[in-house]
Amino acid sequence: MKGKNSSLEFNEISKTVNGFLGKSVSEETMSEWIEDIYQNGMTTQQSADYTKVIIDTGERLDFSSLSRPVVDKHSTGGVGDKVSLILGPLLAAYGFHVPMIVGRSLGHTGGTLDKLCSIPGYKPYLSLDNFKKNVKSIGVSIMGQTDDICPGDRVIYALRDKLDRIDSYPLICGSIMSKKIAEGIQGLVLDIKTGNGAFMQTQKMAQELGALLSDIGRRNGVSVKVVISDMSQPLGNFSGVGCEVHESILALRGEGPQDLMDLVFYLAKKSVEIFDENCSTDKLKSLIESGLAYEKFDRMISAHGGSLRNFSKMRYDIPKFRFTIKSSVSGYIKSYRTKEIGELLSSIGAGRMNNKDGIDNFAGLRVYKKIGDQVFAGEKVLEFSCSSEQKINNLSRMGLDLFKLSESSTGRQKLIYK
Ligand code: URA
Repeated sequence: MKGKNSSLEFNEISKTVNGFLGKSVSEETMSEWIEDIYQNGMTTQQSADYTKVIIDTGERLDFSSLSRPVVDKHSTGGVGDKVSLILGPLLAAYGFHVPMIVGRSLGHTGGTLDKLCSIPGYKPYLSLDNFKKNVKSIGVSIMGQTDDICPGDRVIYALRDKLDRIDSYPLICGSIMSKKIAEGIQGLVLDIKTGNGAFMQTQKMAQELGALLSDIGRRNGVSVKVVISDMSQPLGNFSGVGCEVHESILALRGEGPQDLMDLVFYLAKKSVEIFDENCSTDKLKSLIESGLAYEKFDRMISAHGGSLRNFSKMRYDIPKFRFTIKSSVSGYIKSYRTKEIGELLSSIGAGRMNNKDGIDNFAGLRVYKKIGDQVFAGEKVLEFSCSSEQKINNLSRMGLDLFKLSESSTGRQKLIYK
């Protein structure tokens, strides 16, 4: 046994990971190693060592010449979670530097990179030099993981996926934190989602994951703050691909929905507080109101080859084909089946059911009612849309049961737990 109960040393982890990357360790041996970690876990120190080994398989960016803080945020994913698209430019407007390396869609959750790729011309991968240049001059750049960043994670993730062994706390935490720490950040805010649309369905699971992620960060020299937020209904009023960018632009123009903005400002405040205890939400709000955060977003999109002007011509907010779900009776929204909603979104093109699936930029959902809202018989509650008439017709024949009503209001859903 090499796992938690024994002495899995840094050197041994390094030899195995680098051997697999360099092909001197066979897939069979690596599979056994992964199985052992999956079954027996790792200690926190072993997880931190594993993370460091993964970081060292690639480059760790160096922003030490900058005088202002270098920060990022990581969310464990959810439905309608577009926070990064707003938070990155907002922190850049505050004067921070935000080198964000983000992922594609995963399971029932959307991917920030897929959303950005709905912007005509947007280059999702830049050379590290260009990425660093943007982070230094604009303050923010958002791109996908390239071959230079944690290549060890790529090969191990692919094998874990093949073996159906994604679901291991130390391997998940090592995979997430290695990519974040390799960005060269000093501070990180973790938004751990909990609720029926999250990977961590209970607050206890969210807390455990948050504790391990932050321990790994600290042991690798990064200050970490953990936020636990709700994912028992889609965040904001739109979920999907282009429609989430549309909503993010509205948010950066000061017209974002309440829940989304509450979370954005909370996470922004936590990010700033890593370095400066005296951060006021009013100051952050003024950066949206003045247009500075929007300007940062616009500059970042241009630096990646994209165009917001051409984006607005796509009209992702006007669905090609739609399926509207109305309430048959009056009442108050009590709950949503959020994971199922995310899976349905993936099935119509907002995510990938498997690696070969393409993304439909028009795939999305409009949420007309949030938990606690009153709804009258015949009123719209949800509206799915995409560019395939066949997929929409399939949805409409499924007899979907995605929300529950109560006779009296149960009140608004709590958004932030910690
Ligand atoms: N996200 C990652 O980046 N890695 C994992 O292992 C799981 C989720």
